[in-house]
Amino acid sequence: MKKLLIFLIVFISFFLGGCRTSSEPITVSDFALDTYVSVTVYDARHEDTARKALDLCSDYELLFSMTNPQSTLYELNHSGFLKDSVELSDIIYGALEYCRISHGALDITVSPLSSLWDFTSAAPSVPDNNDITDALKTVSYDNVSLIDNAITLQNGASIDLGAVAKGYIADAMRDYLVENGVKSAIIRLGGNILCIGSKPDGSDYAIGIEKPFYAGEVSECLLVSDYSVVTSGIYQRYFEENGILYHHIIDPSTGYPVENNLYSVTIVSPSSFTADCLSTACFVLGLEEGIALLDTIDNAYGIFITSDYEIYYSEGAKQFVK
Ligand code: AMP
Ligand code: MG
Repeated sequence: MKKLLIFLIVFISFFLGGCRTSSEPITVSDFALDTYVSVTVYDARHEDTARKALDLCSDYELLFSMTNPQSTLYELNHSGFLKDSVELSDIIYGALEYCRISHGALDITVSPLSSLWDFTSAAPSVPDNNDITDALKTVSYDNVSLIDNAITLQNGASIDLGAVAKGYIADAMRDYLVENGVKSAIIRLGGNILCIGSKPDGSDYAIGIEKPFYAGEVSECLLVSDYSVVTSGIYQRYFEENGILYHHIIDPSTGYPVENNLYSVTIVSPSSFTADCLSTACFVLGLEEGIALLDTIDNAYGIFITSDYEIYYSEGAKQFVK
């Protein structure tokens, strides 16, 4: 009898052990959207789902890329009119709202300026001031009109979704993962992080805010579940010329990189799209106006790092700090 009991215990433990799902994290990664992208899932059975979610990045790149001649956005920018692209209309519709509430600090028609500055080229340089003045003439989100999925660009305007697309795509990847049964995961698209649920043991994810210009060092550690954490910073894409640092966040009123005392703005919000729009908008607005804007928006919090590495928080943001 005792032997039978021991056998049964060993058998049941072995059987359960064999069936147990591993909650060891598995990460799949790629280079897409001009950055390092990855999905981490906490269940080995979801590796394939994670890979399919990651593949969505290239699908969306074909819709939203400003530079790929095959993309839907490229077609819109070069013809000035496009109808029936539901997702392009959707992201533009959503982004226009943030252009409005930030009074044009976020302006998706910065495209001619982004092309002039060309931060992704191998050897970027400061554009000619006359070219910047010319480019500025078409920059205004008022030039974008959207009626029933028909998008029209007036006055030669063109669109750059670089400030908002990663957030939109991260949300779409989250929806795909959740629809396919994933309960715990982290999506990373460069500086955009989106956490699904909490970790399998119920604890929060620890997300570090990078110390600007100190790769690998962390300025602040946040604890979040079911939130997105998105950072816009001057250290992410920049070049130096004659001792001056030029970075990729453009002030749509001057055509030049924003000059304020900010190094980075991190937004925490359940929607990665909201966080992405607001991170760029608040960066352009600066510390005071950025915080004032966030304090009018539900469930969006900001952490601002200034050039002297001081950290400032919008109302409620400290709840995430470890
Ligand atoms: P992010 O890293 O989300 O702040 O987005 C920065 C990217 O958005 C840049 O690389 C440009 O492509 C684009 N961009 C730069 N300045 C602006 C702006 N003021 N409004 C909208 N998009 C911008
Ligand atoms: Mg952004």
